Amino acid sequence: MKLWVKIFIGLLLGALTGLLIGEKAVYLKPLGTIFLNLINMIIPLLILSSMTVGITSIHDPQKLGRVGGKTIGIYLITTIASILTGIALANLFQVGSGLYLQASETAVAKAPTFGEIIVSIIPSNPIAALVNGNILQIIVFSVFLGIAINFSGERGRPLHNVLESLSDVMYRLTSLIMEFSPVGVFGIMAWVTGTFGLTLLIPLFKFLGVYYAACLLQLVVVYAFILLKGFGRLHPWPFFKGMGDAIMMAFSTGSSAATLPVAMHCVQENLGVSKNISGFVLPLGITMNMNGTAIFQAMSAVFVAKAYGIPLDLSSYFTLLMTATMSAIGTAGVPGGGFIMLSAVLTSLGLPLEGLAILAGIDRLREMVTTVLNILGDAAVTVLIAKQEGELDERKYYHTELVEFEGGAS
Ligand code: ASP
Repeated sequence: MKLWVKIFIGLLLGALTGLLIGEKAVYLKPLGTIFLNLINMIIPLLILSSMTVGITSIHDPQKLGRVGGKTIGIYLITTIASILTGIALANLFQVGSGLYLQASETAVAKAPTFGEIIVSIIPSNPIAALVNGNILQIIVFSVFLGIAINFSGERGRPLHNVLESLSDVMYRLTSLIMEFSPVGVFGIMAWVTGTFGLTLLIPLFKFLGVYYAACLLQLVVVYAFILLKGFGRLHPWPFFKGMGDAIMMAFSTGSSAATLPVAMHCVQENLGVSKNISGFVLPLGITMNMNGTAIFQAMSAVFVAKAYGIPLDLSSYFTLLMTATMSAIGTAGVPGGGFIMLSAVLTSLGLPLEGLAILAGIDRLREMVTTVLNILGDAAVTVLIAKQEGELDERKYYHTELVEFEGGAS
């Protein structure tokens, strides 16, 4: 049985058990706490390694000059746009509100002011940041470390390899821990519904609905109209047709890394992007551009804050914008990648990690759509850059549509 099915069953059984045994479900809570501790255990090293390696994948941006700068710039802008969409829709539809959950952990930290954030995110001691689990500081250190490794050339290679290996091992550890997640989710859900009743499940499905709507908005407004039609002067329809195989692959595997080869084939063969451009822009996007993940992380933070009745002020939203941007960049394109990095976002905002366990039950349902959006965002930017650089074969791009109209095989 697939893990996500088990987690979903854990969620349903937990909710049912909680409803049946009521307050006594508190005895099942340690199962959830153990699961959360296990997740906490991997966060600092996972962030340090995956974030640094993510940054080092931007090899020598000087050499890549204009294309490199433009690609990174557009990726950042679309990431920020998706986070803002996530925040806006989450607030518009009030996801998570009305739940009145209570964090069982020690007092939730008060969100700092804007000025305090700026000063406090620069670690004076990165080891202390790791020890204390200060996520923002770890992120900032990782960014500097990644840049310095790139500048160090050959001499930085061994450290890069160590960190890459560490990040692989951490992801492996993550999947081991996720094996325990159905039980952990069972414990948390039993406790939560035992204490709060059925009122919890409806907001979860509302969350999913609002999330899908935000993804659709990003797809239509940002990719189709702004990037392709507006800046690229291209009809968006052939784009979506040409990406069909990649869409199916992303939807079924939940992994944009696994979808890369198919996506590469689609942009080159169906959409007419040159090998030069696609070979650089697309893999970079797989590593750093995850719009679906960014929307999810932003929306989840608002969901958890509202569910626990923790107000988010302007400086909290600023922190959210920064950490969600960095987390989306640092997320690996593997199943569950975005979910694990969500813990970094919640921690940086002082939000209770129990919210994570609640969202785990529906994670696979959101991830299928997330991955499709992630891959389409990368491909749309790839097509746009190719068009602007004169490296798009438009006959091929529009041919996708002709093949479909003629009823031929694609
Ligand atoms: N699994 C997603 C991907 O590979 C990332 C995520 O979990 O958000 O694109």
